[in-house]
Amino acid sequence: MTTTIIGFPRLGEFRELKFATEKYFRNEINESELQATAKELRRKHWQLVKESGVDEVVSNDFSLYDNLLDTAFLFNIIPSNVETSPLSSLEKFFALARGHQSETIDIKALPMKKWFNTNYHYLVPKFEKITKVKINSSKIFDEYQEAKALDIETRPVLIGPFTLLSLADFEEGISAKDFVNDLTIAYQDIFKELKVLGAQWIQLDEPSLVTDLSVEQKALFLDIYHNLLNDKQDLKILLQTYFGDVRDIYQDLIQLSIDAIGLDFVEGPKNISLLQTGFPADKKLYAGIINGKNIWRNQYQKSLAILQQLPTQNVVLNTSCSLLHVPFSIENEEFPVEVKKHFSYATEKLNELVELSEIVAGKSEKLEKNQALFQQERFTKDPKVEEKIASLTPESYIRQPAFEKRELLQRKEFQLPLLPTTTIGSFPQTKEVKQTRARFKKKEIDQKTYDQFIAQQIDNWLQWQEEIDLDVLVHGEFERNDMVEYFGQNLAGYLFSKNGWVQSYGTRGVKPPIIWGDIYRTAPITVKWSKYAQKQTNKWVKGMLTGPVTILNWSFPREDISLKESTLQIALAIQEEVLDLEKNGIRIIQIDEAALREKLPLRKNDWYSEYLDWAIPAFRLVHSKVQPQTQIHTHMCYSEFTDIIPAIDQMDADVISFEASRSNLEILDELKANHFKTQVGPGVYDIHSPRIPSTEEIKTTIDAILAKVPQEKIWINPDCGLKTRGIKETKASLQNMTAAAKFARKELLIHDKK
Ligand code: GLN
Ligand code: ZN
Repeated sequence: MTTTIIGFPRLGEFRELKFATEKYFRNEINESELQATAKELRRKHWQLVKESGVDEVVSNDFSLYDNLLDTAFLFNIIPSNVETSPLSSLEKFFALARGHQSETIDIKALPMKKWFNTNYHYLVPKFEKITKVKINSSKIFDEYQEAKALDIETRPVLIGPFTLLSLADFEEGISAKDFVNDLTIAYQDIFKELKVLGAQWIQLDEPSLVTDLSVEQKALFLDIYHNLLNDKQDLKILLQTYFGDVRDIYQDLIQLSIDAIGLDFVEGPKNISLLQTGFPADKKLYAGIINGKNIWRNQYQKSLAILQQLPTQNVVLNTSCSLLHVPFSIENEEFPVEVKKHFSYATEKLNELVELSEIVAGKSEKLEKNQALFQQERFTKDPKVEEKIASLTPESYIRQPAFEKRELLQRKEFQLPLLPTTTIGSFPQTKEVKQTRARFKKKEIDQKTYDQFIAQQIDNWLQWQEEIDLDVLVHGEFERNDMVEYFGQNLAGYLFSKNGWVQSYGTRGVKPPIIWGDIYRTAPITVKWSKYAQKQTNKWVKGMLTGPVTILNWSFPREDISLKESTLQIALAIQEEVLDLEKNGIRIIQIDEAALREKLPLRKNDWYSEYLDWAIPAFRLVHSKVQPQTQIHTHMCYSEFTDIIPAIDQMDADVISFEASRSNLEILDELKANHFKTQVGPGVYDIHSPRIPSTEEIKTTIDAILAKVPQEKIWINPDCGLKTRGIKETKASLQNMTAAAKFARKELLIHDKK
């Protein structure tokens, strides 16, 4: 059985790409130095895959920022203000990714969204009426040739036309259909050129096929592929799907004149029964067997059982999705051998593919060794945790009194002005902040010195927040490296990797902690600094926690108990923390659920039954026991919850802040239509870009919000935490924000008097 992968992580074993790109952004290196680093990483990764024994290597899975942006760039889907700007090609590329601001140029970044059910974010391409689809970049050809020069034949990977069109935005008045013809021709041009260069195969990634497809979408897909396959230039086509099953389109897929179909058997078990209805003899099946999302060793016996059910011999062993979603290599971790042997990162997964194919070929020792690993008792169970979960009743999940009563009590209690201003929690994590934390961790400085440093940061920023007259302050989260790891460190049952970085977006990596056993809180986590901060000021300071669903979704979960059970364990631990904060005088507590939507099933039918029915109650469990006058906030990144608004309201928080500035406030109409009761802080500016919004611009946004949401329900805040931003832009932007809020407030008061 031959083996292959869908894609490999590109940040580099030690995040070399991140550091080089950031240096380029800071003008510390030039374009050719950045490209040299990128080229070196590609070489290393191709050779690693090849030398591990994997048969088919891929190219063009690499990106300097994001694959969908690459694809948009490749096909010249570039907004006209960027296209006509005097920037270089690479500068345009990065301008789309992160905005560009100079004396003469002011470009906003493209919106960013979560890539299906992962924590990877892609940039949303924008088609305009004047967009002229044509080939605009040679990246895919260059990388194919680059590998060839190393004597490695590759299968170039490209996001397919259906997924590209499904994920893109369109200027009003145009739609996907308008671009099918030009796009088909452009893809065919790519096929032609690749064929000339000597390529045999191309992989078209079409993950959008695993979502619910409407009649129109199916028609669009078929229209595109019938056109495309009319002239495929003798290039063999692998149509690759992942993250689920293709139930809506399977029967059509097998009739297309493509050469191979890639299916995911990890997240799409239903694919097996689809296959059993028949699979054509003239096609290869790329079988996604090795989990590309989790970091546990593969249980070969289970994988063999899947392989046995496949109705074809023409199988290529594959990962379930790109290895982009797992870290580089377990070799860079310091876990004890007993622990380490249970894990498999990207590099080890390559070996698993090879081993599994060897087992299929008859090498049974490898299977026995693998079986032994799964026969041992591994997980640390905790009877006390299990008991607590068992004693939960329906009342445990409901906060009393009901929302409307609490809202009145809280208005009296807090006496906040109309349109209260606040931030989402973190302030810039400067080099100094990160270095000091690292030095403390390495024991180069003692607790007292470290504490003094953090206290000083908090003091400075509290004072500044008072100066610009924000209404609800935050302590700034300087003591936190990451919103999940920081909590995990004080929760039993968690393991932390040293180098387990996974790309989240562009140059940003996250290091998801690993849930190893039953979870409980070992000590208070945030009380010390929240309490300290509240003592320094007469204004309200928000306590800042991460919610259970996000902690789970941003961790590598266990595979031996359900996600629901792990989440409830975390919820009980965070509940203790909330009650501790309250006891220590913190009256406003924000429980972030930045990643709530992440594990929402891709199929609508499964939303509630498989996810929301336990995820939302898990959140409520965390705050169900607080006093009526304690105000609970939550925060979600991205406003992509238009379709689950009732569920969000059922979280029963008092206030929710969310990203809205990049998505044009579309959500507000839906909130209104759904009689959303929770107070809202739709982000009034985009924090993912260093661009500074003017007071007028923010005021315009506030007016747009006021047009749709009752004024007494509105909070004014940025999109998200400010930890990735510089101090200068943060201060300027927030100053403009408070100024804009004051203008808006004044206008409202004048208006009210009339
Ligand atoms: N409180 C967190 C912060 O401000 C929230 C981050 C997030 O939503 N990703 O950094
Ligand atoms: Zn956020």
